[in-house]
Amino acid sequence: MPITTEEEIDADAIEAGRLLFAGSCDFYHGAQRLDQLPPISLPEVAFAGRSNVGKSSLLNALTGRNALARVSSTPGRTKQLNFFNLSNRLALVDMPGYGYAQAAKSVKEDWQGLMFAYLRGRPSLRGVMLLLDARVEIKASDEAVIELFDRAAILFQIVLTKIDQVKPAVLARKRAEIDALARKHPAALHLVLPTSSETGAGIAELRAVLAGLAA
Ligand code: GDP
Repeated sequence: MPITTEEEIDADAIEAGRLLFAGSCDFYHGAQRLDQLPPISLPEVAFAGRSNVGKSSLLNALTGRNALARVSSTPGRTKQLNFFNLSNRLALVDMPGYGYAQAAKSVKEDWQGLMFAYLRGRPSLRGVMLLLDARVEIKASDEAVIELFDRAAILFQIVLTKIDQVKPAVLARKRAEIDALARKHPAALHLVLPTSSETGAGIAELRAVLAGLAA
C-alpha cells in the first residue's frame, strides 16, 4: 500500500522497508534512448534531482552499497537511466542529474525529451522521488521538472537532502515552502521526507515509503 502521510510510517512500515533493503540490489540495465528501455517487469520508482543534490549519496545510504552509485557515475552512464533490481520487488531508476548551468540548450532538451517520454509512457512507474537540497532555494530547473511530472501525470514525492546542514528553523521554513508547492501541483504527494545521507536521518522512513510501492 502506498504511504501518503507521516502517520502511516509506523513500526510495521519501517520493518517492511528494512526487509526490502536487506535483499540484493544489482544494476541490470542502462538506457540512453526510449527504444533502449528494459522490458516492463518490476514496479519502478525513479530518483531525480539537480546535479550535486546528493542523489548518489542517498542511493548509497538507502542500499548500503557504494557500488550502486558508482555504476551511475561511470563515464558513459551519467547521462542515461540506470536501472537497479532491488530484491526482485522494485526497480530503482537513477535519472541523470539536471540543471547544469553551463549545459547547452540542446542537452537540456535531450534530458527533457527522454525523461518526459519515459515518465509519460511507462506503465510500471509508480512514482518519482524528487530530491531537493534543504540548503538551497528551489530553482527554475526544479520547477521545470515538476512541470514535466504534472504533464506526465506521474506522482512525485519530495525528498529533502542534506538536512544535517540546516538549522531546525530553516528546515521548518523549507517544509512550509514545499507544502505550498505541493498544493499547487496535482501530481505532488504532500508527504515531505527530510533526509541526511551523512547522519542517516530519514533513511529508514524513505525505505518504508519505497516498500509501500514495491511488489
Ligand atoms: P549527486 O550529484 O546528486 O549524485 O550528489 P552527490 O551524492 O555526489 O553529493 C554531492 C555533494 O554533497 C558531495 O560532496 C557529498 O558529500 C555531499 N552530500 C551528499 N549528501 C549529503 C548529506 O546528507 N549531508 C552532507 N553534509 N553532505 C552531503
